[in-house]
Amino acid sequence: MTRLRKVATGLLVATSRKYELNSVVVLGQNGGVLLVDPGWPQDELDEIAADLAQQSLTPVAGFSTHAHHDHLLWHPEFGDVPRWASPDTVRLAGSHRDEILEALGPDYRDEVLALTGRVSALPGLDIPWLGPQSDVVLHDAHIDGHSAIWIAELGVLIAGDMLSDIELPLPDDSSNALGTYRAGLETLAPYASIARFVIPGHGTITSDGTERVAADLAYLDDLAAGRESTDARIGNSEMAEVHAANRALA
Ligand SMILES: [Zn+2]
Repeated sequence: MTRLRKVATGLLVATSRKYELNSVVVLGQNGGVLLVDPGWPQDELDEIAADLAQQSLTPVAGFSTHAHHDHLLWHPEFGDVPRWASPDTVRLAGSHRDEILEALGPDYRDEVLALTGRVSALPGLDIPWLGPQSDVVLHDAHIDGHSAIWIAELGVLIAGDMLSDIELPLPDDSSNALGTYRAGLETLAPYASIARFVIPGHGTITSDGTERVAADLAYLDDLAAGRESTDARIGNSEMAEVHAANRALA
């Protein structure tokens, strides 16, 4: 089965059956590719590896947008190449390694678990690789060190676990988590507003990033004001619980 589909020239995406996780493949020079958040179930990782090989595409770099289990995976066939992440992501992937492996569950081969979370701190704010300039847009919403990637040449914003149409905002449990989340949205807004494609970590790719930002800001406004939200995402899987937790943060 083919998992990867072409979204635009130079850009392939595989959408998981599990929470619509989007694995992103950015084409670089000479068949080299940048893999962002490849995942998620073992069989899908196998299929992505097979798809890449079949298309003669070779991973030359990886990137994890943040330190949650579904964004830290790798596959032996992707090769031993630099896998980058923000310094906070590297720190959290190390300090929470046991929880991350437990969250993945029993369905992974040992060789994949051994590679999970083995990321290195990005030396700057762009990903060193032979491909389109890929700038990391750092913020602390969702989790410390959360990183979006802005690829100006393609007009692509890879948003990590922000700007989803299926998941509500998922702040962490830090003090002022909602304020930090709002600041993260404001950091992303200028990129989202000009992006041809906003690719959320989970959900549907959109060309209307402004609408995604506005929806999340409106949701935060309702929380802050103690108003009942009419956000349709509350009805999605597990989101009633998230909404209750978010209301408790306000
Ligand atoms: Zn996450």
